[in-house]
Amino acid sequence: MLSTMQDVPLTVTRLLDHGMRVHARSRITTWTGEGEPRRRTFAEAGARAAQLAHALHDELGVRGDDRVATLMFNNAEHVEAYFAVPAMGAVLHTLNLRLPAEQLVWIVQHAADRVVVVDGSLIPVLAPLLPRMTSVQHVVVSGAGDRSALEGTHARVHDYEELIAGRPVTYDWPEIDERQAAAMCYTSGTTGDPKGVVYSHRSIYLHSMQVNMAESMGLTDRDTSLIVVPQFHVNAWGLPHATFMTGFNMLMPDRFLQPAPLAEMIERERPTHAAAVPTIWQGLLAELNARPRDVSSLAQVTIGGSACPRSLMEAFDARGMRVCHAWGMTETSPLGTVARPPAHAVGTDEELGYRLTQGRFPAGVEARLTGPDGERLPWDGKSAGELEVRGPWIAGAYYNGPDAEPLRPEDKFSPDGWLKTGDVGTISPDGYLTLTDRAKDVIKSGGEWISSVALENALMAHPDVVEAAVVAVPDERWGERPLATVVLKDGAAADFAALRTFLAEEARIAKWQLPERWTVVDAVPKTSVGKFDKKVLRRQYAAGELD
Ligand code: ADP
Repeated sequence: MLSTMQDVPLTVTRLLDHGMRVHARSRITTWTGEGEPRRRTFAEAGARAAQLAHALHDELGVRGDDRVATLMFNNAEHVEAYFAVPAMGAVLHTLNLRLPAEQLVWIVQHAADRVVVVDGSLIPVLAPLLPRMTSVQHVVVSGAGDRSALEGTHARVHDYEELIAGRPVTYDWPEIDERQAAAMCYTSGTTGDPKGVVYSHRSIYLHSMQVNMAESMGLTDRDTSLIVVPQFHVNAWGLPHATFMTGFNMLMPDRFLQPAPLAEMIERERPTHAAAVPTIWQGLLAELNARPRDVSSLAQVTIGGSACPRSLMEAFDARGMRVCHAWGMTETSPLGTVARPPAHAVGTDEELGYRLTQGRFPAGVEARLTGPDGERLPWDGKSAGELEVRGPWIAGAYYNGPDAEPLRPEDKFSPDGWLKTGDVGTISPDGYLTLTDRAKDVIKSGGEWISSVALENALMAHPDVVEAAVVAVPDERWGERPLATVVLKDGAAADFAALRTFLAEEARIAKWQLPERWTVVDAVPKTSVGKFDKKVLRRQYAAGELD
């Protein structure tokens, strides 16, 4: 029997329409480095999104599911493109501006991007690559920057403000099937060639609802979120879409992502929430220690992208900023788990135990653990296996070109269609995920697994250690052994014996897991999205550069 309910498609257009009417006065504030930030209401941004859509359609000839790429920091114009492009039926493709040049060209060609909207400040990134981006017919420049470098190629160059000026502020948005592509994002390639994930209108809509649940970020129009996680990295964790649903205000840092301007933004604009990867927060803490600021507005901080070290969570807690740890990936939109402690956890210690896990799965995400021989493992908090997930905002395949069948590599999708995350961990009987490693980062020593993450977190709790990354290196006797690379605080001496004792006595790491190989580095190499780049460390070790 069919239901009697209306079949109304869940679309980005609906979010846009709702946000600009019902939350018309909510604001997008973009940091400009000097003077007043750029302030725009949702009503104004929505009107400008309509103008942008007219320009893309009438002037640039964008039709059907043409791809419109953005090479932009987090700012109001990027939000306008977020809504205009999917609402007109085209596909927004956010480009990771920190990718190596070759990958950026490869991705643009693979997605066959027809238009690139670029921040003026990022012309130096785009210009040298543009001649090889043969699919790109138009470049739209937003904000100040030297445009001469873009001239003389096959692409026509436009100014964002001139292009939209004088166009109608409403648009007769087309009816869209909710399963249609709305946006795409390539994984950052930590695990090989970048792979394209294509989000649907429906997946974005449902994911936005999840972001807004009290169990997730739970923000309202009384809140302001400092969105540090880049809009090119999994849609800034879905925050810009979620804002138009509940009207929380956005504070956008644009290119000012260093600790000092971030601290200044927090002090001046008083956001109540912020979202970023751990490395950003480590930097901010060091800045606040060196130059104290009033950051008392920041009640809630969402951390994800890599494991949140205990030391970081405690340091934030001590400052009155409550950390909420979350796990996800490009393929999961990204909200996969959120670590809110259950009601039955009483007392700071028990709560902290839960908050340090990766968290619980929301109703929209089903999870299972698979052992080395493909067996299903129990949720007993002990059995470690690869995490597999499925749900309405989880990728079921990768983009393989406009007319090709989607890609479903065996190592990424199970025969029954679940996403194999490549993350290894346990799930407790009450449903909390604890990741112990990425499958490829696990250290296999004498037939047992050593968690690189456990060693890193333990080391980063030592007062002399700023950062620590542990990788597997080949060992004749044991197969693999851990190599610990540490960044020490200024003035601290490299006392590896003391660090080993600390791991054994304070962190209770088993003796056979303690690293015997150590090295001090100035900085741990990072990927384009600020995660430890263990591929580089392994390569440096193999080349004898880490002894
Ligand atoms: P890439 O796979 O290219 O690094 P993603 O941003 O999609 O790009 O990364 C997703 C991965 O990041 C996850 O599979 C997981 O390994 C890691 N990750 C994300 N959040 C967390 C977290 N809270 N704790 C530990 N690892 C995390």
